[in-house]
Amino acid sequence: MLYNEPNPLETRVLTKRFGIPNSEKAEVYVANGGYQAFLKATGMPPEKIIEEVKVSNLRGRGGAGFPTGLKWSFVPRTSPKPKYLICNADESEPGTCKDRLLMEYDPHQLIEGMLIGGLAVDSHKGYIYIRGEYRYLITMMEHAIDDAYAHGWLGKNIQGTGFDFDLYVHTGAGAYECGEETALLDSIEGKRGVPRMKPPFPAVAGAWGCPTLLNNVETYSAVPNIIRDGGAAFAALGTPKNGGTRLVCLSGHVNKPGVYEIPLGYPMLEFIEKFGGGVRGGKKLKAVIPGGSSCPVLTASECDIIMDYDTLAKAGSMLGSGGMVVIDEDTCMVKAALRIMRFYAHESCGWCVPCREGTTWLRKMLQRFHDGMGQASDIPIIGQVSKNMLGRTFCALGDAAAMPTISIVEKFREEFEAHLDGRPCPYEHKPAMALA
Ligand code: SF4
Repeated sequence: MLYNEPNPLETRVLTKRFGIPNSEKAEVYVANGGYQAFLKATGMPPEKIIEEVKVSNLRGRGGAGFPTGLKWSFVPRTSPKPKYLICNADESEPGTCKDRLLMEYDPHQLIEGMLIGGLAVDSHKGYIYIRGEYRYLITMMEHAIDDAYAHGWLGKNIQGTGFDFDLYVHTGAGAYECGEETALLDSIEGKRGVPRMKPPFPAVAGAWGCPTLLNNVETYSAVPNIIRDGGAAFAALGTPKNGGTRLVCLSGHVNKPGVYEIPLGYPMLEFIEKFGGGVRGGKKLKAVIPGGSSCPVLTASECDIIMDYDTLAKAGSMLGSGGMVVIDEDTCMVKAALRIMRFYAHESCGWCVPCREGTTWLRKMLQRFHDGMGQASDIPIIGQVSKNMLGRTFCALGDAAAMPTISIVEKFREEFEAHLDGRPCPYEHKPAMALA
């Protein structure tokens, strides 16, 4: 169970229906204000829907943080080709576990967000691509879709509006790489999920070569709230250019891990204290991975900042997918780097050399270091190999593996030095960090 009881400090917009009994049923959703935004949107010109999303300053919640309204405007709605709407529910970034809650506790909010997206870009067919490991969720989402059809919220002439929309669930097969949008498209088309060359971008040539709108679960789930209350109201919750709230998955060495909805711009240290109950065991904070394992690590002294896309970028990291991992003073950062690299070496699809070879060699070198067999000359090589991957790989997985490693080597060099000359890991007697 990942969802905690609501914290009174939360700003519950997307999660406001969490905890309502039978919230997965269409009639319960309608009884609690659901599908009203879709009905409102049917009376709006598509340009006005997109404008409202632009005004909201909603940015993609999957990790990249691209402005959502702008993305929607790239889809050529007058194209004679069919247009597809796809939801990326391949939530695989270590530390991230919020899309599953949105699908489990309020699946119709996601369906409604996709319906509104369909109206905006003139799409009549959508797919929700759910990672294979979320087996139970696939069944739940399918039931919710069946229920939406049964109550006239999907299918032909929805609620007499003249709008048709069909929605399907597509199951992933457990590849982190398929969270990359073009690899996801290949997977949906029944091919091996490897990334495509961009441009063209999916908005123009996506699924089956047709215009495709692709967003994350949290992004679509925000849309009904934007249309219902207006883009300006959503924008006002956050900071300039960083509108609304964000579900943050707090894990690691805190007293109260969980998923919490907070406005963008919330102070990071205050979040760890007030929501996470502080660092576990009264220990000192050593570092924070702010937005999933692919983000550069922040040292404790760098954490006195607010959490929005732009501030995190200025601090040299990212808000990413909202998976915040808190690391205490007893954690070996060499081991943390190793755990992260093990994941990326395993998940590299092997398509391009810098990522395939780089992640494998880094994993081996970090393992050797942690086993006490590292050499002083290895320290700059680890940094160098990582930097050689940056920007030189076909998709973002190479960067995702390189960025945390570079930050850990640069900021915690002394911990690497402490493992030299056959010395055992100075932290080994203490509990290892559980990252993924
Ligand atoms: Fe595959 Fe890695 Fe290259 Fe991406 S960066 S295409 S995951 S080998």
